[in-house]
Order: sequence, then structure tokens, then C-alpha cells
Amino acid sequence: MSAQPGTKLYEGKAKILYATEDPDILLAVYKDDATAFNAQKRGTIAGKGSINCLISRYLFEQLEAVGIPTHYLDCPEPAQMRVKALTIVPLEVIVRNRAAGSLCQQTGLPLGAVLDPPLVEFCYKNDDLGDPLLTEGRLLAMELATAEQVADITALARAINRELTAFFDRCNITLVDFKVEFGRDRDGRIILGDEISPDTCRLWDNAIADPDGRVLDKDRFRRDLGEVEAAYQRVLEVVTAAVQ
Ligand code: UDP
Repeated sequence: MSAQPGTKLYEGKAKILYATEDPDILLAVYKDDATAFNAQKRGTIAGKGSINCLISRYLFEQLEAVGIPTHYLDCPEPAQMRVKALTIVPLEVIVRNRAAGSLCQQTGLPLGAVLDPPLVEFCYKNDDLGDPLLTEGRLLAMELATAEQVADITALARAINRELTAFFDRCNITLVDFKVEFGRDRDGRIILGDEISPDTCRLWDNAIADPDGRVLDKDRFRRDLGEVEAAYQRVLEVVTAAVQ
């Protein structure tokens, strides 16, 4: 049965996906809801939906401009993005330029340690299992992707990292790490999906030395650092200025 225009297809933690009259196009509505620690912590960040939608739009446009295929089409409303329909590869692809978060907890690497070359890691996108870290062997055994797709995804993740790192350098912000998701279009081409925002990146303000004061991303919510909305708004302002 084909979905009618406007049918809700899926509701995630940060976005709702709707069908449109075109089966190749979906509408993503970004929510103000915030979750962390596999949804054990829940809250709302006022204005987050429209802020993250606009930041994602600008970053997708930067990536498209250097030839990285993304699902972004346009934004009919501030918190709405029309995207290409993809078959999502059930992986969270994490790129790390510096040690933070689970990497520090699991390895003892100190916060902020430079990772050169940057790490590209895969987690299984499965809330019931707590999004476990995978090896490439496990990923292939689970048939989550083929070896060729893993190679494509890794190369794209590194290219995205190079572009976004240079972009945020111009904003005087350090791109510590981020998570991206990919999907396959009708022709089997690997395309960047989901979002790129302070929900999915760690961003540190280079002008602030204090390790908590410099945080401009969801760690402010995860760690109750306060001024969450102001940090997201600040990222939007500097990103907007950098794309003008
Ligand atoms: N991340 C994400 N969604 C997830 C898990 C991680 O967007 O479900 C992002 C997170 O914001 C950070 C990067 O991926 O920018 C690396 O996160 P990490 O593995 O350190 O996990 P965390 O510390 O967030 O548990």
C-alpha cells in the first residue's frame, strides 16, 4: 500500500518523517525534543527544530558544493526539510578529530587528545542493543552493508570531515567529532542522510579556554551545563555568517 501525501512514516527522537505526493521525496520535520543516553534523559530545547534544520541545510549545501551527495532538497518552512527518499544503512558513522565522550570513557584517552588520522567508527543503529560499537568484521557478518559500501561510506565520511573541519575552522570552532548516517538511493548510490547539527556534532568555541564554557553542542544538555538554547543559536549565527 503506497503512503498518501502527508502520511507520517516514522517518528524518531529529533525528527518526524512524512510522505509527500512524490514517492522519491520525504518531508523531515525537526523537533525541539532532546534526548540523551539512549533516551533515558529527555527534555526540550526551545527553537532547536528550526535551528538544527537551518544549520543542517547550510552544511549540506557546503558539502554538495564540493561534490558530496546529500539527501537535502529544500526547506519549505523553518523546521521542515524536503529530502530524497533513501533506504537507510543502519549504521551510525562516527568521525573523531579529538577524543571525547564514549571514546574517552572506553579507552582512557584524555579529553581533547588529537587523533591523526581522524578515527572513523561504526555503531549499529539499534536502540534495543544501545547502538553498540561494531568492528568491520561484525558489520559484514551482520550484512548491514557490503565491503564496497563500507569503503564508499568511509571515504565519504573522511571527505565530509575534511570539508566540515575547514568550514568550522573559519568559524573559529573546533569540530571535535560528529555522527552521520547514509542511505542508498534507487540506483544504489550511497548518499548522506539525516542531519548535521549541534545534536550530532561536538563543537568547541576556540575563543574560550574553559572546558565547559567552550561547549557549543548537545553536551550542554547531556551534562546540564546550562545555556543550551544560546549555544545552538550561537552556532547558527556563526554558520550563517560563514556561508554568506
Ligand atoms: N552521536 C549522535 N548520536 C548518537 C551517538 C553519538 O549524534 O546516538 C554523536 C555525538 O553527539 C558526538 C559523536 O556522535 O558528536 C560521538 O559520540 P560518542 O560516541 O562519544 O557518544 P556519546 O558520548 O554521545 O555517548
